[in-house]
Amino acid sequence: MKVNILVWLIILTACVLFIVFYIEKENTALDPLNEEIKENGELPEELHPIVEEKKNQLVEQAEEQGIPIIITEGFRTVARQDELYQQGRSEDGDIVTYAEGGESYHNYGLAIDFALQNENGRAVWDMSYDGNGNGESDWMEIVDIAKELGFEWGGDWARFKDYPHLQMDFGLSIYELKRGKRPEDPVSD
Ligand SMILES: [Zn+2]
Repeated sequence: MKVNILVWLIILTACVLFIVFYIEKENTALDPLNEEIKENGELPEELHPIVEEKKNQLVEQAEEQGIPIIITEGFRTVARQDELYQQGRSEDGDIVTYAEGGESYHNYGLAIDFALQNENGRAVWDMSYDGNGNGESDWMEIVDIAKELGFEWGGDWARFKDYPHLQMDFGLSIYELKRGKRPEDPVSD
């Protein structure tokens, strides 16, 4: 009988330790990366000034083509990115991103997402939509303008195609951004 109790005690202790360890891990899983990125270099809190400027030019030039658009996403915090990453994984919904916190250009203020706007002011993600009636896909007209302005389009990516996504990497990889490299701010004169 004595042996039996001992065995049960060991199993119980192992269970408790496992649970404590697991909860600890869950709670801190997202924080170290966050801290690491912050230690390496300040994270911005808004779009990079050049991306901001090009974004405004995109909206203006789209309007001139008779294509009203809305910018649905711009700068995104690391925490918000982690939240989005859980969508379609530990949370309900479709997978919307393959980037965890700190792994998206949105986290460095270098990316925007757009959508078309129909006459009722509602967002449209239909790539065949032709609101200005010129026989061309409005979506692709926007992509052309964006590329002209220097944006890279997520629809050109080989793996996960992110059609609303536009970014400017300034020659920096996510690896470099995570380790503190930042694009230079435009020289003010
Ligand atoms: Zn995006």
